[in-house]
Amino acid sequence: MNETRSEIRLLGDPVLRKKAKPVKEVTPESRDILAQMSRIMYESMGIGLASPQVGINQAMIVVDIGTGLYKLINPKIVKKEGSQVQEEGCLSIPNVCLKVKRAKKVRISAQDEFAKPVAIEAQDLLACVFQHEIDHLKGKLIIDYASFFDRLKIRKKLGKLRKRIKDEGLSKSETKSCKLQL
Ligand code: ZN
Repeated sequence: MNETRSEIRLLGDPVLRKKAKPVKEVTPESRDILAQMSRIMYESMGIGLASPQVGINQAMIVVDIGTGLYKLINPKIVKKEGSQVQEEGCLSIPNVCLKVKRAKKVRISAQDEFAKPVAIEAQDLLACVFQHEIDHLKGKLIIDYASFFDRLKIRKKLGKLRKRIKDEGLSKSETKSCKLQL
């Protein structure tokens, strides 16, 4: 029994393309969602997860690259500097690994799970993960950074994969083709 039906929404699900709504009031329910998201991220061996990936259209992300858990509400990039390229995977796009060019350093402003304003300076991998998750809140995915022909190839591959997932469920190994899962 290796097959599990994923709690994570996959490419093709319209929620992944919607702009997440700002959270106006932070409530115990917001904290509950962030706790659930953290659990799903760790269970999926991910280092970041955004609310649309679990079907929730409210601006929240969780990130942990191994240096501690961030649970952020309404995160925004307020400053970008330099550039870096990482090979990124996405928990919502199984079996795809893409080089994405992003800023090397970012400053994030957000609220914590108790609505307290926070400012975070991040660089390298942590900066990459924040940018990936904040993209999710805008309905943007890593395939949007790929060339037209790469996108066609990915779509074809995913069409087949989606059909099989529908029939059999997603096997855990299928999300591990890329080192970074976000
Ligand atoms: Zn992702």
